[in-house]
Amino acid sequence: MDIRDVQPVLYQRFKKIVQKNSLFHAYLFNGDYFSLDFAIWLAQSLFCQQKEQHLPCGKCRNCQLIAANDFSDVRLIQPVGNTIKVNQVRELISEMSQTGVEGNQRVFIIKSADLLSPGAANALLKFIEEPNPNTYLFLLTNQLGRVLPTIQSRTQIIPFRKNFFAFSEDLKQHDILPTKADLLANVTNSMSDAQLLNESQWFNQGVQFVQKWVTDLANGNKESFVAVGAKLVPIFDDKEKQKVAFNVLAYYFERQMLTSKDSRLSANLFEAEKNFQFNVSFQNCLEMLVIDSLWR
Ligand SMILES: [Zn+2]
Repeated sequence: MDIRDVQPVLYQRFKKIVQKNSLFHAYLFNGDYFSLDFAIWLAQSLFCQQKEQHLPCGKCRNCQLIAANDFSDVRLIQPVGNTIKVNQVRELISEMSQTGVEGNQRVFIIKSADLLSPGAANALLKFIEEPNPNTYLFLLTNQLGRVLPTIQSRTQIIPFRKNFFAFSEDLKQHDILPTKADLLANVTNSMSDAQLLNESQWFNQGVQFVQKWVTDLANGNKESFVAVGAKLVPIFDDKEKQKVAFNVLAYYFERQMLTSKDSRLSANLFEAEKNFQFNVSFQNCLEMLVIDSLWR
């Protein structure tokens, strides 16, 4: 999927910046929707060997190595477990002070910047305040509120809003059934994630269960309490799958609302997801949701 199609407005904006060679030294990309693809494209624009009208070709050796995350002067930093540790950032800053291997420019892309530990964020802040020339930093997040305000105020924040319609259409063109394309466009932010889920047995089975569960709940069926432990928990059996489950739930709750006009359900789901983020177990969150919806 081409960034020109999924983020046309941002593409035009950055195209001008790239053509004028006026990239800022630190960006904060808010929203997961193709923001990594964008950061990679901007990195390619700095190193491409066969630029076409100042834009990266995507085909030369450098462009391909960057896309494969295998280019020494473009580094991708990702959380280890649930956090980006201070030594990861220190290592990165020491690299920042060295000159590049392939040229004098360097690019650092930090995924899930909201997971920077406070120490790591403060270490990074020093770089942002006193940047080395020719060094570019892209911070990616989909939880802007959790990024240190001092980092927010010193970076250029760019919103990456999801274009549901274009994404869903593209999924359909990639052999995803129309009935599933809308759901996948809602619950994922990239083609690769969507394809992965589409081919996962647990996801497909989970979707069937969730769909039935939401209908039962909306109809006041008390079986939905037992079904949490009996059906949903065995399928969504780890934290990552449970996050996906909440997105699938939100999708079907919204559809249910269109027919039932009962806004209590989605308020209860919102509450359940909030509790889940505060480490209440998936099972407890959903059982509470049933109790709140059926017995209160
Ligand atoms: Zn190129």
